[in-house]
Amino acid sequence: MRPSSVAIDSKLPKVGTTIFTVMSRLAADCGAINLSQGFPDFQADTALFDATLRAMREGRNQYPPMAGVPELRAAIAEKVAALYGVSCDLDHEITVTAGATQAIFTAIAALVRGGDEVIVFEPVYDSYVPAIECVGGTAVYAQLSLPDYRPDWQQLRSLLGPRTRMIIVNSPHNPSGSLLDASDLEQLAELTRGTDIVVLSDEVYEHIVFDGARHHSLAGHPELAARSLVVSSFGKTYHITGWKIGYVLGAQELMNEFRKVHQFNVFTVNTPCQIGVAEYMRDASRHLGLAGFYQQKRDFFRAQMRGSRFELLPCRGSYFQLARYGAISDLPDREFACWLTREVGVAVIPVSAFNHDGHDDRVVRFCFAKQEATLAAAGDKLRRV
Ligand code: PMP
Ligand code: GLN
Repeated sequence: MRPSSVAIDSKLPKVGTTIFTVMSRLAADCGAINLSQGFPDFQADTALFDATLRAMREGRNQYPPMAGVPELRAAIAEKVAALYGVSCDLDHEITVTAGATQAIFTAIAALVRGGDEVIVFEPVYDSYVPAIECVGGTAVYAQLSLPDYRPDWQQLRSLLGPRTRMIIVNSPHNPSGSLLDASDLEQLAELTRGTDIVVLSDEVYEHIVFDGARHHSLAGHPELAARSLVVSSFGKTYHITGWKIGYVLGAQELMNEFRKVHQFNVFTVNTPCQIGVAEYMRDASRHLGLAGFYQQKRDFFRAQMRGSRFELLPCRGSYFQLARYGAISDLPDREFACWLTREVGVAVIPVSAFNHDGHDDRVVRFCFAKQEATLAAAGDKLRRV
């Protein structure tokens, strides 16, 4: 094709290809073990495929209702009631989305106007700020700091202003693996009380919390729930990141606005996968077992790293493990990640990619959503560095 003849004033001048794509591609090019992008390297349960295929064969292949098939919304409502003690109205408070990324983008597009400020916590998952900037909002950065990446609520208070429209929280947190505790939710409730600030809560790793900790969903906090949209993803829960299916919960008034955009963004999400997930979800042990399943992987990976020169940071949830590498190298983290991929044969994510100013604490992220054989092979290489 010929080069475009139009002058493009980019809406996202600083955005390139996501670090996940870059590192996964480099891993493939180098034949490295890919612990960078967050996705399982093992197969999902065939019972889920059977249920989905059955839906296709039974003719469930046309547009579903805009908010999602009632079977799936009912199954989500049942799960949310059982886990967080809150009852959601299927018709008005739950919408099925094409993954969490779409839910987050749609929520921001529906609620943030040009000139509004949105507070995010850094290191910040990479899709939030481009979404904010695409709709003319401005990201305002609160910091989560090494080693345990806890929010500093005094700092958050200092960032609130008349233009603050939204605060985005993420727990369990990607990339740090930190969690919001009950006391954090209280602080957030207090700081937003009496304001019109909406909270967007990214809870895609809600079932992946370790060492007996509980996930505190904003949906289960009555005061915060009234000002929040809560996002989850079946990609994480059922090992199907490529299916791109998730959901959002929220009070009817917020959900009305969400759906106005959702219906013109994707309109709806593919029918047979919704039916398949709905049927599969009925067995609660499938999501309740996830914490134990991934805790075993976390512990296996940490055991593999014993004797290496990486310094592992705490990991309370998600399927990511952060590590300092100062004892190995003083390269900046992006260069270190490329070096590790090319020369050692293990791909990781440099955490500075989650900082808007490239701030670099010399920390990399490993994904341990992998078979033990993969983690063991990576461990062999990493212990030798
Ligand atoms: N939020 C976080 C914190 C994530 O880690 C991810 C995906 N890894 C998403 C959102 C996007 O989820 P989905 O694949 O369902 O769009
Ligand atoms: N969320 C995944 C991660 O953190 C990647 C998703 C993506 O590639 N966009 O690695």
